Amino acid sequence: MNQITPQPGIMDIALYQGGQSHIQGVADVVKLSSNENPFGPSPRAIEAVRDSAAMLHRYPGTDHARLRAAIGDRHGLDPARIICGVGSDEVLQFIAQAYAGPGDEVIYTEHGFSMYPIIARMAGATPVMVPERDRHVDVGNILAAVTDQTRIVFVTNPGNPTSTMIPESELQRLAEGLPQTCLLVIDGAYAEFVAGFDGGAALVDRFDNVIMTRTFSKIYGLGGMRVGWGYAARPIIDVLNRVRQPFNLSMVALAAAEAAVQDEEFLTFCHAENARLRVWLSDQLARIGVPSDASYTNFILARFADRAEAEACDDYLKTQGLIVRRVAGYNLPDALRITVGDETACRRVIAAITAFKGGAA
Ligand SMILES: *Cc1c(COP(=O)(O)O)cnc(C)c1O
Repeated sequence: MNQITPQPGIMDIALYQGGQSHIQGVADVVKLSSNENPFGPSPRAIEAVRDSAAMLHRYPGTDHARLRAAIGDRHGLDPARIICGVGSDEVLQFIAQAYAGPGDEVIYTEHGFSMYPIIARMAGATPVMVPERDRHVDVGNILAAVTDQTRIVFVTNPGNPTSTMIPESELQRLAEGLPQTCLLVIDGAYAEFVAGFDGGAALVDRFDNVIMTRTFSKIYGLGGMRVGWGYAARPIIDVLNRVRQPFNLSMVALAAAEAAVQDEEFLTFCHAENARLRVWLSDQLARIGVPSDASYTNFILARFADRAEAEACDDYLKTQGLIVRRVAGYNLPDALRITVGDETACRRVIAAITAFKGGAA
């Protein structure tokens, strides 16, 4: 008799779908499906990884003090209010595990990151999806969906895969409108791509129930290393540290992230190239009849006439060695998410979509 059953909710978890990285039979592939940095990691991060190799027999530190200090330095934040995780995904998981459980509700928005409902279910909580308005987070809709059971609200700012931004005044209205018993998590995975945006840090300083999460996977080009962090009031950080495994980050990951966050020159270069090329990409797309919202991120959400055209374009791009991301799973079936690559990649994308549109006309 087999009575082994998982906890309620576990079997409702849909497995995360990552961006594709290979095309059968095509060698010269450009991967523009996971919002990775086209310039790779910082050379200083590569050097730090090499240097750490001789110490692999040692356990890493458990308090991440040096990395937290380096992050604090770069962003002007108190290192005592920072927690580091295996990607920001792990920090999001700490939050759900510590603050939501069976019977609790976790709000995320219509086009929000697919990890939010997964993480809510991992904690046994119930994910609640709130509609957006024209690919923009609607604060009124979120506040209307809050119940006595709501424990966490996840928003991404700027959004993925929408690339749109929640205005500062709206984010503040959301923080003010939520009950004190509900956490607001501002996922700033793309915050570095917005000039002058603090990712929500000032709101964290003003509200005890607001948490900001950030990642080394996007502008820092360290997706393969898995490092992210969160910033919150000290009592929250204290709670999250209790569900964090002491050795969650490897010594190699810690060294890479610390070197990366100190490499201002590389960061400035990546920021400038992305800002230049995302405008070029969306202007060129508009010229050939493919609209997109102004992007605040390192990708463009290209909109097609309908689902059939988006899928046909995706199929054609694959024949050209270009992998972009279908986003039907994010309730955006007529769109494709295209990571802003380097200039060569951007030019290839435009040439291919131009040919596709010409061929389809
Ligand atoms: C890429 C991304 C992350 C980062 O995840 P990591 O676990 O840090 O790699 C978080 N949130 C959103 C919305 C993302 O797109």
